[in-house]
Amino acid sequence: MAEAGSFAERVKQQADIVRVVGEYVRLRKSGQNFSGLCPFHSEKTPSFNVHPVKQIYHCFGCGVGGDVFKFVMEMDKISFPEAIRAVAEKCGIAVPRPRERTPEERQENQQRTSLVELHKEAAAFFVQQLNGTPEGRAAKAYLLDRGLDSEAMARFGIGFAPSGGEALLRAMKQKYPEKVLEASGLFSRDQNGRFYDRFRRRVMFPIANDSGKVVAFGGRALGDDLPKYLNSPETPIYSKSNILYHLDRAKEALRRDDCAVLVEGYMDAIAVARAGISNVVASCGTSLTEPQVKLLNRFTRKIIVNYDPDTAGQAATERSLTILLEQGAEVKVLALPGGKDPDSFIKAEGAAAYTKLLKEAPPYVDYLISRARKMDMTTAEGKLRAVNFLLPYVQRVPDRILRSEWATRIAQQLRIEEPVLRESMRKAANERRSEVKARPELAGRAGKPAERRLVQILIESEDFRSRLAQEIRAEELHKGLEVERILTVLVESCESGARPDAAALAMALEDRDRRLLFEIAFESAAPSTWEEAESCLTVLRRRLVEEELAAVQRQIESQAAAAGAMGEMRKLLERKQELRRRLESPPQ
Ligand SMILES: [Zn+2]
Repeated sequence: MAEAGSFAERVKQQADIVRVVGEYVRLRKSGQNFSGLCPFHSEKTPSFNVHPVKQIYHCFGCGVGGDVFKFVMEMDKISFPEAIRAVAEKCGIAVPRPRERTPEERQENQQRTSLVELHKEAAAFFVQQLNGTPEGRAAKAYLLDRGLDSEAMARFGIGFAPSGGEALLRAMKQKYPEKVLEASGLFSRDQNGRFYDRFRRRVMFPIANDSGKVVAFGGRALGDDLPKYLNSPETPIYSKSNILYHLDRAKEALRRDDCAVLVEGYMDAIAVARAGISNVVASCGTSLTEPQVKLLNRFTRKIIVNYDPDTAGQAATERSLTILLEQGAEVKVLALPGGKDPDSFIKAEGAAAYTKLLKEAPPYVDYLISRARKMDMTTAEGKLRAVNFLLPYVQRVPDRILRSEWATRIAQQLRIEEPVLRESMRKAANERRSEVKARPELAGRAGKPAERRLVQILIESEDFRSRLAQEIRAEELHKGLEVERILTVLVESCESGARPDAAALAMALEDRDRRLLFEIAFESAAPSTWEEAESCLTVLRRRLVEEELAAVQRQIESQAAAAGAMGEMRKLLERKQELRRRLESPPQ
């Protein structure tokens, strides 16, 4: 992230992470680290740590971690360049004028600025159409009839795109070059290559990014036009899988209540927000994506999913559960009675009734069990189907104890013998492991001691770091380890001989690996010696031999079963002997 010699690098070297974090969190010295209550999740005993030497932070509770810039980015919800400036200012480092960029970068930047500007003007244009034209007023009457008052329309910036097909184009084409109009996604071209308005005769909902800038629109058809909902296409400023509708307005409430209500569409989000529940966001025109969950997790991990109760909504709920659980979210599911979506429910039953149901929303497993119980439970096949429906979700729960509790509940509720269920779970877990390759568990210590120690030695030891890295790479000793991906990036950075920067390495890693790396980085340890490093390597080498031995043994058994292939069998037996000998002989 911070390139050598860059301003960012200079700031990072001069800034003291303990001081910067200390502005947000009350830190206490504990051992060689500082610790305090995590600002990213609510807790009563401190599991948030700052390492003054490595200049990183890590929370053992929720797993966040990074360098000083990452911390300020996440706390203040700002971009990387903004964080550099913020840290520099906090530490009294003079900020230079922005450096001249390459012509391409400058152009891209300019285009993005123009696109944001264009969207802002378009939003104002649509609002003006809604209030100031006969066609717009008719649309407004329709919205009023649907229960949205003028105050709500103003609050959410709702507007109207007229039916003519050129209204927005006429308003914008003098001000913006064709390239910008083209890139905005607000216009399409006809057969003759002429622009026309993409959105026609639609109620327009501005979609803002998390800093509140309008970057796209959702258009709802007036009457029976199809499609009912039309959204902006992907543009340089809009990627639908990275944006949650209403997040810009929900931020504060999300942090305060430490909980999010997740709904499907903008009408739902607006209805829920108007009911006084401002911690609501909508996934909007897409099934929930991993980047969206990560975005939301910056504010809270407790999420109540409230999708439509129709078949499509149920499928979407189940898909989103998968992603939420994998990201370690604490999920509840609200399925509204009477087949109602949040918008129609609140209209019919009122805000208080909705709030009450929200508070009573059951944990996701209860929701899933009640779904499973709707299957035919009178036959063995039916029960099997129900179990197969439930297992993939239970398997995604990172915590082992929680998983076990759910197993007991499922067995009780579906009237299945618990041992039988647990056996299915074990089998499913094994299949999943061989499919996905073992992922380190969050709970408990992932990575065996020798592996963990090697990671630490590579980070710490100045003297033989590159030699050690070369040996690991040459023999591919990191392959198949729980720390494989960590060692891959670490070894690469160590071969240059430079001191690896844990925060920079973390950038190249997925969430779980990043957490593991930080956990290891925070373990205090005695200085290492080459002998110790060698003994770790020996453990790994032995493990490789053991694995091959097991594979050979399996082959021997299957060959014996096939019988007849004597030549092949002899080779395997010889190899087996050789591997046994290696395990028995003392390490060189
Ligand atoms: Zn935390």
